[in-house]
Amino acid sequence: MYYNQKTIIYHNGKYVKPTETKIDLYGQTLHYGNGVFEGIRAYNTTNGVTVFKAKEHYERLLKGAKAMQLNFKYTVDEMIKITYELLAKNNFTDAYIRPLITTGASMALLSSEESTLTIQTWEWGRLHGNDLLSMGTSSFQRPNPKSCFVETKVTGHYINSILAKNEAKKNGYNEALLLDMNENVAEASGANIFIEKDGKLYTTAKGHIMAGITRNTIIDICKREGISIEEKIFTLEELKQADSAFLTGTAAEVAGVKNIDTYQFPLTWKKTLGYKLSKLYKEEIAKSNK
Ligand code: PMP
Repeated sequence: MYYNQKTIIYHNGKYVKPTETKIDLYGQTLHYGNGVFEGIRAYNTTNGVTVFKAKEHYERLLKGAKAMQLNFKYTVDEMIKITYELLAKNNFTDAYIRPLITTGASMALLSSEESTLTIQTWEWGRLHGNDLLSMGTSSFQRPNPKSCFVETKVTGHYINSILAKNEAKKNGYNEALLLDMNENVAEASGANIFIEKDGKLYTTAKGHIMAGITRNTIIDICKREGISIEEKIFTLEELKQADSAFLTGTAAEVAGVKNIDTYQFPLTWKKTLGYKLSKLYKEEIAKSNK
C-alpha cells in the first residue's frame, strides 16, 4: 500500500528502495518509542509542486529531536531540498511525506547518541475521505504535558492515539475525541478540533494538544477573512451545544464532524464555517509556493 518496486526513499544519506534498508532490531525507537517524525503534504499548485508549510514541519521535527536530546545534524533547508529531490525521483506531484528520525541501538534509558533520517513518500488521499466524521469520546486522555513534550511528534506518544482510535472503531465511530487530564476537550487522535457557535469559532487552547500547523493556518485564514476565532479551554458539555465542528490536520486537511457520541451537530455541513474554511484552505494551498 505504501510502496512498490519503483518506490525510492531517502535513508541515511542515500536514495534507495525501501527493501534495501535495514532496521536495527536493537534500536531504541523500536523498543522505547524514542524517535521523531513528521507528516507533510506536497501539492501540485499553480506554482508547481509545493511542499506545503515545509519549513514549519521541519522546524517541528528539529524541536522534537532537541526535546529528546538526539544528536541530529540536518538543517531545515537540507531536509527541504532532499524532500523535493525525493518527490522528483518518485515522479510525485501530490503526495504525503513522512520523515522519521530513528535512534541507535541502546537498551539504556538515556537517548542514544546515534540518529538516522529516513524520508518516505507515497500518494495518499485525505485521511477521512469526504464523509463527515462520527466521533466518540475516548476513555483515554491526552498525556499529562508534564509527562512528555505533547507538542512534538515523538513516535512513542502515538500509543495514546492508537488506543483511542482502536476504542472509537470498536464502538462504531470513525474517530476519537480525547479529553485532557482536566476533562476538558483536547483533540482527535491525529487532528485538532474547532467548534462553531452562533457564527463564531473556537479551538482548544494550547497546553495539552499538538498545536497543529493546519490549526495555525486556519487561525490565520480566519483572521484575514474576519471570521471570529478564539483559542480557549472548553468542556465536552459546551462542545455538545455547538452548531458545527470540524477537524484540522495535514493528513485530514479540514474534515467536517457529523456527531460526537449521540450529539448531532444541527447545522448542515455546507452552511458551516468549517465548509467555508475547507474551501479557503484549498485556495491557500493552490497559491502556495516553495
Ligand atoms: N494532533 C495530533 C495528535 C497530531 O498527530 C496531528 C498531526 N501532526 C495534529 C494534531 C495536526 O497537526 P498538523 O496540522 O500539524 O498536521
